[in-house]
Amino acid sequence: MPKKLTLLVILFFFLPFCFAQNINTPFVPTPPKEPKRFCKEAEKFYTLMEKSKSYVEITSLEGLVLDLRYGTFENFSGHDLYCGGKRAFLHRDAEKKLRKAIQILKQEFPGFTFVIFDAARPLYAQEALRKTVRNTPYSHFVSSPNPGGMHNFGLALDLTLKNSDGVILDMGTDFDSFEAAAGKQGEKEALKTGRLLPEQVKNREILRQIMKKAGFVALPSEWWHFNAYPSKYVRENYSRLPF
Ligand SMILES: [Zn+2]
Repeated sequence: MPKKLTLLVILFFFLPFCFAQNINTPFVPTPPKEPKRFCKEAEKFYTLMEKSKSYVEITSLEGLVLDLRYGTFENFSGHDLYCGGKRAFLHRDAEKKLRKAIQILKQEFPGFTFVIFDAARPLYAQEALRKTVRNTPYSHFVSSPNPGGMHNFGLALDLTLKNSDGVILDMGTDFDSFEAAAGKQGEKEALKTGRLLPEQVKNREILRQIMKKAGFVALPSEWWHFNAYPSKYVRENYSRLPF
């Protein structure tokens, strides 16, 4: 075979592998050149939430604690998106379901507490997060602010569970660890390879069952994310946050 043709054949067969969507290993973000604190934006967001009749603050609800990673620099965007803010909000329709989930958790697992990573999320924060994964195989883990994900409607929650000893349940991956094993759709394979242990999947199931009973919809790609309604229904019946 001529040399040129051999090269073409090799390229034809192997080039697609270079661009394959491999998400078996966790996403490693590129840290921003200048980590930023979004203070003016966060203040505007809190003012909007306070004035709105559709949104309610969940910060002090009994049965939960906040661990708002986006209000620190310790998140995959590398920015402090809430300027150290320790306040969380939800659309009141999602808040009703969260109250129900707290009740169910209290009955079925006395002493357990929800740990909230994020709730309603303004569009500027969504853009900063999206920017980090844009044009990577992991882009589907973060919605674009346009048309917006369910957090941008105030109808999604990122959360985990703390047991009665105050220990965070082991879910096998951290919050926002973007990889195949992070969601239900990758669990079977991850159990086979040993990436996840049965106990970790069992812990995820506890969270899923409680949230499902309260009317939330689980996301197949992230164990920590729950929507108050299917996204099609939300887009037809609710408005996205204005900024
Ligand atoms: Zn989420």
